[in-house]
Amino acid sequence: MPLFCDVALAVPLDMVFTYAIPLGMEPVVGGRVLVPFRQQRMSGIVVELHDRPPQVKTKKVIEALDLSPVLDEHLLKLGKWIADYYLAPVGEVFRTMLPLSAEFKRSIAYRITDEGRMALHLAGMSGSPARSKRTPEQQLVEFRVLDYLAERESVRAENLRGTTRVGKALLAGMVRKRWIAREDVSAARDAARLVKVAVLIGAEAAEASPPLDPSTSLRAGSRGARPHTSSAKKLNENQRTLIETLAASGGRVPVEALRGLDVPRTTLGTLVRRGMIGLVDEPQDFTASGVKLSKLKPRPSPFEFEFSAAQKEALAKIGAAVGSRKFGGLLLHGITGSGKTAVYLACMREVLEQGRSSILLVPEIGLTPAVAADLHQVFGDEVAILHSGLSDAERAEQWHRIRRGEARVVAGTRSAVFAPVSDLALVIVDEEQDSSYKQEETPRYHARDVAVMRAKMAGAVVVLGSATPSLESYYNAKKNKYALVELPDRVEMRPLPEVEIVDMRQEFQETGQEQVISRKLAEEIRERLEKKEQVMVLLNRRGYSPVVLCRACGKTLQCKNCAVSMTHHKRERKMECHYCGHVEHIPDKCAHCGSEYVYFVGTGSEKLEELLHGMFPQARIGRLDRDTVRGREDFERALNALNEGALDMLVGTQMIAKGHDIHGVTLVGVVGADMALGLPDFRAAERTFQLLTQVAGRAGRGQSPGKVVLQTYFQEHYAVQFAARHDFAGFYEKELQFRAWMHYPPYSAIANVLIRSEKLDEALTWSGELGRWFEKTRHEGIRVLGPAAAPITRLKRDYRYHFILKSPSREKMNALLRAMLAEAAARKIPRTQVIVDVDAVWLM
Ligand SMILES: [Zn+2]
Ligand SMILES: [Zn+2]
Repeated sequence: MPLFCDVALAVPLDMVFTYAIPLGMEPVVGGRVLVPFRQQRMSGIVVELHDRPPQVKTKKVIEALDLSPVLDEHLLKLGKWIADYYLAPVGEVFRTMLPLSAEFKRSIAYRITDEGRMALHLAGMSGSPARSKRTPEQQLVEFRVLDYLAERESVRAENLRGTTRVGKALLAGMVRKRWIAREDVSAARDAARLVKVAVLIGAEAAEASPPLDPSTSLRAGSRGARPHTSSAKKLNENQRTLIETLAASGGRVPVEALRGLDVPRTTLGTLVRRGMIGLVDEPQDFTASGVKLSKLKPRPSPFEFEFSAAQKEALAKIGAAVGSRKFGGLLLHGITGSGKTAVYLACMREVLEQGRSSILLVPEIGLTPAVAADLHQVFGDEVAILHSGLSDAERAEQWHRIRRGEARVVAGTRSAVFAPVSDLALVIVDEEQDSSYKQEETPRYHARDVAVMRAKMAGAVVVLGSATPSLESYYNAKKNKYALVELPDRVEMRPLPEVEIVDMRQEFQETGQEQVISRKLAEEIRERLEKKEQVMVLLNRRGYSPVVLCRACGKTLQCKNCAVSMTHHKRERKMECHYCGHVEHIPDKCAHCGSEYVYFVGTGSEKLEELLHGMFPQARIGRLDRDTVRGREDFERALNALNEGALDMLVGTQMIAKGHDIHGVTLVGVVGADMALGLPDFRAAERTFQLLTQVAGRAGRGQSPGKVVLQTYFQEHYAVQFAARHDFAGFYEKELQFRAWMHYPPYSAIANVLIRSEKLDEALTWSGELGRWFEKTRHEGIRVLGPAAAPITRLKRDYRYHFILKSPSREKMNALLRAMLAEAAARKIPRTQVIVDVDAVWLM
């Protein structure tokens, strides 16, 4: 066995640490070890075993935690690539890749002992506890604890203290008396959040279920592998309802959810006894993830309709690429409603049938319970779904399932790109332009770009799908780095909506006042409502009013932590900072001059909803933004309400542009979606074009094309003009010219270097020092802009200065950045205060 190992620890230092391996211990490369680090114990990943004695005295590894690697060769290599490409400490990269932190969180639990049970029993018999020195109150508390534990197996310390309100000292006393025992539990094995799930077994699934896709039913049917002689005829109506509901929801539903059916509880028991339904414990959120029963109504199979010629062609191209077992990249450019998802699912099913693995990445908001239900319907329990609602323990559980090969299909948000699947054949990135793929903390990786690299390393195929591809991906397709596959038509040849632009400057001149809803939009809305049609209105800013202004001194109310205005939230009666979450009372006078002339200026989605209520009092209006939507389920509930006709109008932020499955909207109003065009950000035009295109895609019902009324203050801007004409190619050409001219991506690599400190003089000194260093350092071909105050000069208490680097050569840029980090370290600037953001998507 080698004498030393190099360990990557999750600390903000760009290095690995060497430890001595004690005799008899056998750590493995890619496995975890427990090591001493600065007075504490930490776990890290072994990156190398060797016999080279280090210069300094080494400490010893405490424990080797894994017998086999948790990061295989491919993932180790990928992690090192990320550390190198994004200039992130490799230990922090590995921590992000491995969702196993729950396994290190030691937690204490208590259980009752036999002595404890006896004491409880005796107390119950005699009516009064045995004599002792303790006060009666103390004894009562102790018996309350025993009583509580007697009915449970093992209770975590924090739960026990929370429910019985006892202190640590009292519990320690009970442990000494041996009434209760303490134990270490690992959070990953915590069974507290297990739920009972009903699973369909046997051939009845196929017979009793509504006509499903045959392969789906077969899959559900073969799960139990215990075919019964047909007993379907003997099922009564309640039993049929239960079985059909199960079959329609992919063969498994939490028992709790089945209670919502109008079926006696005994029915489930009967079917379990007859061997038609099994009951298993699974972590919550794991299967149909707390889906309300109304959503478990039979959903149409994703494959029910006939694939269009374009879809078939896309399938064939992806299939051929996968079959070649070589790296390949495809950009699937399919306009909104062209049926991309069906293509994804079909490809993934093909891969699964070959016994290989696939990963589907979706944006944060895209992984709704309905999407999860679709995935379960097609893949049964061979799919693992990773979303932000999972606890650490559940995430770890899913990770192990994937690693054991039980789930060969993985769907999830950003970090699912690190899923430890073996024999990876296909990675799909849906809505690849979505900004939620970029992690805005260390390591600042972009999941789309990591997906491409992972596919490259594994010899797999990567498919980037979008209705509005990012400039980078479209450019790569044009340069033949990716094969371009187009789905040019909406399903069933639905026509694109007509877009009418309303110039809001002209509206102001003609009406003499600032309007939120133009006369044209108001008229169109009225018309739709009279025809009982549905309307959607987008305003990409939440809250009631974004600015509070003093008319006496002209000052605005700013967040005390950030250099941004506080937003007024009327219903919640508060002022809130949208950057750091700081909340204040609504001011009745100016904080600067004491004047009472404070005005609330501007309109957010909350005020828009109120305005529309005033204009159309009969209309039922719903709102969709971060204030009304707390999770994926709220999001889906609002869209369901719209689809079921419970709403006439839906207003909201960009969230409403991202909902799938919207069918009945014939008019989309766009109010202030072009605000971004006024920001100092080179991606503003791209973002605006994408948002306008997405929201326009929501208009139209059946054969009726629908209409979009686009209100703008930037009527001549090419992003607005091309979006109104549905002209993707035109926009990309124009935007690429601008990017080339300004040396922005995709023509240059770009990095944002942010220097931050809570102390203004530190931020100034450090950025000044690094600015002088950049000046005297040779960096041919690399443009360094700055130091300059960041557009948001103060954020979350930090003062912020930044540099922007642009370079045609990524290697040269990263070399310069690495030298800059070394210089910063030499000048004792803390690593956490120098943020290097390679391929930054956000320059504010
Ligand atoms: Zn004032
Ligand atoms: Zn703030």
